[in-house]
Amino acid sequence: MLRSAAMQPRAVFAGALLATLASLAGMQAPRYDLLIVRGTVVDGTGAPARRADVAVRQGRIVAVGTVPRGFATETIDATGLVVAPGFIDVHTHADDIAETPGADNFIRMGVTSVVAGNCGGSALDVGDALARIRETGTAVNYATLIGHNTVRRAAMGTANRDATVAELGKMRSLVWRGMADGAVGFSTGLQYVPGSYARAPEILDLARIAGNAGGIYASHIRNEGTELEQAILEAIRVGEVAGCRVQISHLKVDSPSHWGSGARALALIDAARARRVDVQADQYAYTAASSTLSIRFPAWALEGGPAATAARLNDPPTWTRIKTEMGELLRARGLGDLSFAAVASYAPDPSLQGLSMKQIAVRLRGSDSSDAQFEAARELMLRGGASMVYHLMSEQDVGLIMRHPWVGIASDSGVLVPGDGVPHPRGYGNTARVLGEYVRTRRVLRLEEAVRKMTSLPAEHFRFNRRGKVKVGYAADIALFDRVNVADAATFVQPHAFPAGLPYVIVNGVVVVRKGQQTGARPGQVLMGTAIAP
Ligand SMILES: [Zn+2]
Repeated sequence: MLRSAAMQPRAVFAGALLATLASLAGMQAPRYDLLIVRGTVVDGTGAPARRADVAVRQGRIVAVGTVPRGFATETIDATGLVVAPGFIDVHTHADDIAETPGADNFIRMGVTSVVAGNCGGSALDVGDALARIRETGTAVNYATLIGHNTVRRAAMGTANRDATVAELGKMRSLVWRGMADGAVGFSTGLQYVPGSYARAPEILDLARIAGNAGGIYASHIRNEGTELEQAILEAIRVGEVAGCRVQISHLKVDSPSHWGSGARALALIDAARARRVDVQADQYAYTAASSTLSIRFPAWALEGGPAATAARLNDPPTWTRIKTEMGELLRARGLGDLSFAAVASYAPDPSLQGLSMKQIAVRLRGSDSSDAQFEAARELMLRGGASMVYHLMSEQDVGLIMRHPWVGIASDSGVLVPGDGVPHPRGYGNTARVLGEYVRTRRVLRLEEAVRKMTSLPAEHFRFNRRGKVKVGYAADIALFDRVNVADAATFVQPHAFPAGLPYVIVNGVVVVRKGQQTGARPGQVLMGTAIAP
């Protein structure tokens, strides 16, 4: 009823009149839970910004346009602010959100929905994990994928070989159960052990199960630099043969020797789309990546888990062979040593956090030679490994990829705890950096296009029903920002800083950030793909 009232001026007038009469009679009841007035609506579709009020009731947007004042429990004056759909971050590692349900780093950058379970790593028991999240309550909406590395490890550990028929059967049943329990798709992390040991037929087989249940296939592809194109083709083939939607995760060119090949990667996506393979990608707005230290080691050296790895690192001839291969892998990427790498998190010695491997080599080995850097990396691996930041990309490729219409924006971050480690700044600043640096300063994107890439584009690809637009009937996930001063504040040196210019964030109609302060509310819902939702 309200929906049609909002669309018909006469009905709005009649409603206003009735409400005025009710008010005169001293029995005024709030008609809206929330009214956002005088803002500039950027609705998420890419359509031009326009002045409009937005009214919210029971978690839904019930009016967009000129809305009569005075009938709302809370009214937000959005003068000078953009009113956008809350940002949907489909590439996160927020799997442990129940431990930090406020998810401050996400909500403070306007993210209202996250997808976890990426890069092949997820909860093994999706039903159990989602039940726990529902019970705890979270500030943001949450969805998860079921991860290939997780199910492969459960079925066959870290064995470096093809799965047997029985092991494949076990993986299939685990993926099927994950989908039945509410996963929105299947993810791979083909640069990580044990996913890197799996060949295409295994992945195809498992992706088909997720696809049959309406799920998406999201892939951290096998190689993001020296063999980028082959890796993209592998992901596309999975979509083509298994018949599922494909999301290429954190698309980038991570090898200086291959900088400039972003155009060829995007052309492969265009060609696949022309064949009706529904492939998209996502990207974060930085020229540095973040990953494990182990990713720099040859995959064979990691088989069998930490004890087996340690045995190889402690066996001098084997270590020499590993070190030689590490050097060869780097040279193929156009790199001479590990100076592009910095430690983000290292529990055995937090004083190393934030230092480059060159600095750490001096600290631990008294030399900054490439050999000393490899020896330092070995030491860190023997003490459990580290989480790293890798400066490996070019602005040219980042900008080119960002301009592509089927590439969305996602952070690749987990839920961060302020002050804990020196993580990649994307977890605090990604969306604000797109709006400040890439829209306002560099003019890589129009504002409306940037918002579309963070809202309706990922919402539709992941099939989040009625989310990602400022539109009547849609969930009231809303971010308010000041297009003039929205900016990321997190840096590689001091990442624990919330962005500026995002004063209000609303999730399912509930204010979670008000005047730049978290309210502590946890209105987030568990999201499931519409094809499998009950
Ligand atoms: Zn990844």
